[in-house]
Amino acid sequence: MQLDIVIPCFNEEAVLNEIILRVKKILEELKGRKLIDGYNIIFVDDGSDDGTFEILKKFSQKDKSVKTISLSRNFGHQAALTAGLKFSKGDAVITLDADLQDPPELIDTMLQRFNEGFEIVYGVRDDREQDTFFKRTSATCFYKLMLWFGVKIIPHHAEYRLVSRKVLEAFKQYGEVNIFIRGIFPFIGFKSCKINYKRDIRFAGKTKYPLKAMLKFGFEGITSFSVVPLRIASVVGAFVCFITLIASAWGFLAYFTDNTIPGWTSTVLPIYFLGGVQLIFLGLLGEYIGKIFLEVKKRPRYIVKNVLSENDKNNNNFFDSHDKNDKS
Ligand code: UDP
Ligand code: MG
Repeated sequence: MQLDIVIPCFNEEAVLNEIILRVKKILEELKGRKLIDGYNIIFVDDGSDDGTFEILKKFSQKDKSVKTISLSRNFGHQAALTAGLKFSKGDAVITLDADLQDPPELIDTMLQRFNEGFEIVYGVRDDREQDTFFKRTSATCFYKLMLWFGVKIIPHHAEYRLVSRKVLEAFKQYGEVNIFIRGIFPFIGFKSCKINYKRDIRFAGKTKYPLKAMLKFGFEGITSFSVVPLRIASVVGAFVCFITLIASAWGFLAYFTDNTIPGWTSTVLPIYFLGGVQLIFLGLLGEYIGKIFLEVKKRPRYIVKNVLSENDKNNNNFFDSHDKNDKS
């Protein structure tokens, strides 16, 4: 059993020594307990302009379990994670932030769950006391909105998770460029579980997600997984048309009760009605654009979990190179 750890880094020189120390200690201990046969710690240097690469280079040279992938520029957290995940050849892989906000000590529990048969183990931050009030509240609202828009997101789960090789192979089938990783894994399926943890404060350095980046990331998440915003135009349009009907009835009644405002019915009602009709058709256009949007992503239409067939043992091409590790 080979366990890989993927850690994206963008200007994290101040935390690297500590994270390597802590992660290695745990992995060596797991190896000692024969829970794993080997491991790799895969760092992805996401175009850092501080000493991150030099430090990682030094570690990679003296320790063959430390690997460094260096990106040509800063591509962002999600791209860096994708690069690390695609590089991994492990039977299970854990992604983890470099700043030690996600306690590496949880790796042990994640591995236990994996050994119990869970293909995805989600780390969920149930205690965000260390985050600012703003970050905590905005995150809660964001997850609520996502769920309301029909996205299968796991509230307060960020990128700290373990996935099995099977799940990783499924993930590789998602070729979209604007990737929102924490939305993809629940979308993939497979047997999963959550483990809760307390989010620590950043060990050192500054957050790479200031408000602007956070808003961009949230918007990315919604628009990557939901076409509901496009549908809103139709709903608003239908509502406006309905109100116009009521206003027309009122105008009709006012005509007979001699209570009319001259020119109101003929000016105001058509404006509202036509506005409503336009919104309905805008929403209809949105439906087609939504379809195009979903088609161009070329997401897999299904992911096979298992094939149970007498003579299919050697004929399963879905995860061919990993069948030998199939626990089922
Ligand atoms: N990160 C990255 N590329 C970026 C931004 C961030 O690789 O463009 C990494 C960063 O080094 C860290 C992780 O993504 O390991 C999460 O970033 P951060 O801790 O700053 O986010 P926060 O926890 O403040 O939301
Ligand atoms: Mg952080």
